Amino acid sequence: MELTLWTYEGPPHIGAMRIATSMKKLHYVLHAPQGDTYADLLFTMIERRGSRPPVTYTTFQARDLGGDTAELVKGHIKEAVDRFKPETLLVGESCTAELIQDQPGSLAKGMGFDIPIVSLELPAYSKKENWGGSETFYQIVRTLLKDHSNESKDTWQEEKRRPRVNLLGPTLLGFRCRDDVLEIQKLLGQYGIDVNVVAPLGASPADIMRIPNADVNVCLYPEIAESTCIWLERNLNIPFTKTVPLGVGATQDFLKELHEVLEMEIPQSVNESNNSKLTWYSNSVDSNYLTGKRVFIFGDGTHALAAARIANEELGFKVVGLGTYSREMARKVRPAAKALGLEALITNDYLEVEDAIKETSPELVLGTQMERHSAKRLGIPCAVISTPMHVQDVPARYSPQMGWEGANVIFDDWVHPLMMGLEEHLIGMFKHDFEFVDGHQSHLGHLGGKGTENINQGVKTTISNDSTNTSSDPIWTHEGERELSKIPFFVRGKVRRNTENYARQAGCREINEETLYDAKAHYKA
Ligand code: SF4
Repeated sequence: MELTLWTYEGPPHIGAMRIATSMKKLHYVLHAPQGDTYADLLFTMIERRGSRPPVTYTTFQARDLGGDTAELVKGHIKEAVDRFKPETLLVGESCTAELIQDQPGSLAKGMGFDIPIVSLELPAYSKKENWGGSETFYQIVRTLLKDHSNESKDTWQEEKRRPRVNLLGPTLLGFRCRDDVLEIQKLLGQYGIDVNVVAPLGASPADIMRIPNADVNVCLYPEIAESTCIWLERNLNIPFTKTVPLGVGATQDFLKELHEVLEMEIPQSVNESNNSKLTWYSNSVDSNYLTGKRVFIFGDGTHALAAARIANEELGFKVVGLGTYSREMARKVRPAAKALGLEALITNDYLEVEDAIKETSPELVLGTQMERHSAKRLGIPCAVISTPMHVQDVPARYSPQMGWEGANVIFDDWVHPLMMGLEEHLIGMFKHDFEFVDGHQSHLGHLGGKGTENINQGVKTTISNDSTNTSSDPIWTHEGERELSKIPFFVRGKVRRNTENYARQAGCREINEETLYDAKAHYKA
């Protein structure tokens, strides 16, 4: 275990808490030391929920460790069942409680309740939040459906009804899950496909018992639902879709896959290019101007993979970095990065990601809340595409990522930071113009001139630090850096690399103003 200032994922019991809080009529007893109630803040502050998570903490203190902590656990379990009357009880422990080895799940099972008890074994020192969420959902489904048999089930064609599917994987504290569910429900409705159960988000244990009534499971978020989908396929013969409908191409592929699995004819309308505005917008004049922008992508596996495909195939960006903090998704991210000529960055160290961003000099960063901070420090535009996120990434308005409307939202969210970056650069270029001085302000107020100076300064400092990496690298002089900073930021990285390559070839130890223009002439020739 490492101590760190920031982390992409919490411990696995936070994942369990996400599932418990997403569901209804279920309660979670968490054996945890005093202080672990901090997790409530994630739901009340970030998701802006009006109620506390359905979690009872045993909140043992140091002085309890000398006594019988097992009795303390049993007391809290009884109190929680009496008070909340859940249909299903989850029992687990946090990192510190794991060390005491009270086995709260076994204790609960021995207490004679007449409700299903799901005992969670979440190895806090080797696994993380998404794994904890996935394991909890899987254990709930397995516990509630273990005696179910689907052997005599008829197909939707035999029953002469519309096909129906389950949407599995959305949770609280997931990225835009609430709106993705609405968008996918709407999309499926257009193709005559009904939604049977959405889980875990909004589902009760009784809803979980209805999962076998569906013909297909749609695995919306593999991080949370893939292991459950595999179990349901193996044990109850319910096939599941593997394509996540993020982006225009993936939404088309998802619809085709779903129609095939349901043995339905694929409608022509799936392929129509006007389903989303993204396709048209990215072909429009403005977007052509943005084509080839260097983009660095980092996030959970599902969103990072989808972002790479959208960036590369639908917006015409050049992906210069791709990675994930999710070790469970590394096997999918590695080949995707390789196909783009990159080596995937698999790490949960945000400083390593920041270094990779510096090294690749992107013009846009698509990442998590962590990368938003790093990009801000480096003066690079950024859009958040994945958890962990900040409260501003849980908008009150409808803002899906999946389906056709999700593709529109993605276009806006990604392209606008670039446009703003361009705008800020223009303000920086014209800051000495009379309109920007003596009381004339841009929409950024007094920041119009000064703020952009700071941005330029930030980039300049980075360039300066990077240039001292190895002794064989040419060194930028003050004049060289000043001249470089006048070049628009969106081509500055490329100019810098070209100039350094030229200087190396020409045997220049220093890069000054003259070298910069020599390099320009050299590459133009
Ligand atoms: S038990 Fe785990 S989550 Fe809770 S405070 Fe300790 S290290 Fe953090």
